[in-house]
Amino acid sequence: MTTTPATIEAPARLRAAGLRVTVQRVAVLESLSAHPHASAELVHSALPPHVSGVALPTVHGILNDLTGAGLVRRVNLPDAGSALYEVQHELDNHHHVQCVECGRVEDVACAVGEAPCLHPSHDHGMRILEASVTYRAICSDCERK
Ligand SMILES: [Zn+2]
Ligand SMILES: [Zn+2]
Repeated sequence: MTTTPATIEAPARLRAAGLRVTVQRVAVLESLSAHPHASAELVHSALPPHVSGVALPTVHGILNDLTGAGLVRRVNLPDAGSALYEVQHELDNHHHVQCVECGRVEDVACAVGEAPCLHPSHDHGMRILEASVTYRAICSDCERK
């Protein structure tokens, strides 16, 4: 059986990133896997009962640690009130489509397949690493209203 990085268990991912395995970190990672593009508040409210005593600032701290270790990606979207988080997968350069009405966020594959998928007409002498693209949209539910 082969495992892709996306399916490796949370404790193994933490260990591979050099982080100490704690029940709180595992719970935050697992809750993010179940709810991609979640705010810290949503992650906090979605924590399983055995770690429900964890305070919101602790969740923020854990998300910062996981982001710093490259396990989690922070996504700032124009129509989201706060930063959203998703589990970071290796060699992943996906973009987002976001409903400007309800805020629903979905992943869309990179238009080209690798970063940077867009090249600016003038790079001001900087080496371009990636283009962070957000497609602003209206979802079908909101369109019907
Ligand atoms: Zn919508
Ligand atoms: Zn995403």
